[in-house]
Amino acid sequence: MDPDERIVSVWPLTGFGKALHYRVPSGWADEIWPGSLVRVPLGRRFVVGVVFEKDSQPDLPLVQLKLVSQIIYPYPILNANLLQLAEWIRSYYGASMESVLETMIPSVARQGKSARKIKYAKLVRSLDREELAKLESRAPKQFALYQFIAQQFTAQKKSALLGRVNASEAAYRALLEKGFITEEARVSKRIAYDDELAEAEFVEERDIVLNDEQSRAVASVFASMEQGTFATHLLQGVTGSGKTEVYLAAMTKALDEGKGVLFLVPEVALTPQTVGRIRSRLFRYKHISTVVLHSGLSEGERLDAWISLSKGEAQVVVGARSAVFAPIRNLGLIIVDEEHEPAYKQDETPRYHGRDVAVYRAFLENVVCLLGSATPSLESFRNVDRGKYIQNLLTKRVDDRSLPVFHVVDMRSEVMRTRKPVQLSSLLIDKLQERYESGEQSILFINRRGYSASMLCQECGHVEECDHCSVPMTYHRSDETLKCHLCGNEVAAPLLCPECKSPKIRWKGMGTQRIEDAVKRVLPRARIQRIDADTMSRKHLFREILGDFRLGKIDVLVGTQMIAKGLDFPNVTLVGMVDADLSLHIADFRANERTFQLLVQVSGRAGRGDLAGEVVVQTFTPHADPIQFARKEDVSHFLEVEAESRRSHGYPPFRHLIRQVFRGPNEDKVRFFAEQFAKRAGNALQDRVELRGPAPCAIEKMKDNYRYQIWYFANRVSDIMTSLGEIETEINWPKDVIQVFDVDPMNLS
Ligand code: ADP
Ligand code: ZN
Ligand code: ZN
Repeated sequence: MDPDERIVSVWPLTGFGKALHYRVPSGWADEIWPGSLVRVPLGRRFVVGVVFEKDSQPDLPLVQLKLVSQIIYPYPILNANLLQLAEWIRSYYGASMESVLETMIPSVARQGKSARKIKYAKLVRSLDREELAKLESRAPKQFALYQFIAQQFTAQKKSALLGRVNASEAAYRALLEKGFITEEARVSKRIAYDDELAEAEFVEERDIVLNDEQSRAVASVFASMEQGTFATHLLQGVTGSGKTEVYLAAMTKALDEGKGVLFLVPEVALTPQTVGRIRSRLFRYKHISTVVLHSGLSEGERLDAWISLSKGEAQVVVGARSAVFAPIRNLGLIIVDEEHEPAYKQDETPRYHGRDVAVYRAFLENVVCLLGSATPSLESFRNVDRGKYIQNLLTKRVDDRSLPVFHVVDMRSEVMRTRKPVQLSSLLIDKLQERYESGEQSILFINRRGYSASMLCQECGHVEECDHCSVPMTYHRSDETLKCHLCGNEVAAPLLCPECKSPKIRWKGMGTQRIEDAVKRVLPRARIQRIDADTMSRKHLFREILGDFRLGKIDVLVGTQMIAKGLDFPNVTLVGMVDADLSLHIADFRANERTFQLLVQVSGRAGRGDLAGEVVVQTFTPHADPIQFARKEDVSHFLEVEAESRRSHGYPPFRHLIRQVFRGPNEDKVRFFAEQFAKRAGNALQDRVELRGPAPCAIEKMKDNYRYQIWYFANRVSDIMTSLGEIETEINWPKDVIQVFDVDPMNLS
């Protein structure tokens, strides 16, 4: 054997289920590292894989090992810590390594593509008068193109050129062949749409002097950073208390030390404003480049951002959940804004929680993780309690701005008074009219799209359900349909009850469309815009509408909670929560927490400018804890009360919950396998877990699949997941029964 020859273990990305050993061709040893993306032979095919170990002990005699056939990028695409992170996610969440690597590496990179090259054209020589005349008469199209190129000082993008002069590819080719122009290919950085938006958010920064609370928080975070070890801080600050200033201070410190920063936001839509603010602040750091990374980018944009991070050309990344895997070199700090947001949890395999992965990554990289929220999750609150996280409090709004005035409207008396279903209470109508007359803006939230929640027959009580799912169909008035929000099934809205043929159909409950109609009735001349998943058909419409709203072109915005997050509109002085009970009465132990968070978040949208804000919350249960604590924005008290209730029930965060869902088209079979699994798990785990179920899921049928679940409550996850994984492999699963584990689930439907 060649003494230079090395052995590597490679994990193929094609679902082979384990790492395999390969020889590295001589001379390549210096170009291959753990984390390198390579192409290797597997059977008769060539597949892409990730190198895990160099110099590993081979599982086959050397002569039988095949050679690595290609190193796709000349640098590792994952570093040692990211490889370890992948291992952790695999074992903690019980996912396959392939699914983890797929999530970590953008798909274009996995296919081995490199950065896009763009063609530029420039003039080779100027033609003399005779040549010009000849070209003009014989080939006027080529002439026009030539003239245009000749007038430019620099090389021009080919695609833009052809567009500008409306020239054909053929004319372009002809000029190239005649040697009048030449073409060069440059590696281009795509300007992501987010970058354009961030540009718009770019503002000259005034000098901000941190207030006492901010200074104390910054000093505490700095102290951890100076220790040079892992620590997690929880920055708990009321809305408008200036949390972002604390993030920015920590960020500049990391950059001053020559390190990179990872900044996570819960929602793709929030990246432009965050990037804009960061870029404005980092203006004097000429050498620092900030990129965005999230699923809303095109594959090409994502690849560019990703490559510039792995090469060390960009040092700061702002992104949603999956950006937690950004291959930043020399990471110095991780920030997770709105750490309580359920959007951080991925709802498909691997079902990881972005915040928890961020904390674990900070541990592996030995850096500080800074979590921030106005309404921390119970999980983080408990970690503060246990001394695992350091708490930093911001209790005052900047400039001592006051909290909005918070009205709770008891809808029971509203209905008694009018004796019919009410969408907008008289108080909310008055406030809307006041705002409209004084030229201020309002936002109304209702967490359901469509017109009404369900179709109820007043004669026989029939509620029309989806044929494929066990949920009522939602009525959409704009196209007179009933839609299933789970599977997308759509039927024409019936005029008669499908059961008893009675025409007495009532539309029960309300959604965004119905509220939009109601507002139109009370403010016929106002400019009203609805914003929900139904109006979001065009890609950038969401941001366009928010832009119009910011410019004052819209008076009232009606939307689902997709508009509740972090957005800052100074001229909004009224926020209405049309049906606070929607999130309160769902079968989920986090219902109180979610409702409280939503209410605080939503009221934070009111009065962020110089104008005072008002909040109107409509509810049938005005005395419920989340509503009463939100009214005073009493976060600490809410957390204590809620923690006590969770503790007494043994719910998270006092124990971990692992949820296992079984599904399939044949209900008996699904139940049978769920029962089998529960029996085995009960024997194997004994008193290490409290096992509940199997029982039908809250949504018993979804997309023609029957669903059963088992809940496991345990103090530690990893050993339980190992045992459950073993049981899973012992069972001979039929093709039509699927089971998945969800560790620390957020979605219990
Ligand atoms: P939060 O994220 O806590 O809701 P922000 O960080 O968005 O609050 O801050 C709210 C506003 O207050 C921003 O416009 C910010 O520029 C401003 N601000 C923050 N800290 C200060 C300060 N110390 N002095 C003056 N203005 C500040
Ligand atoms: Zn009927
Ligand atoms: Zn359905």
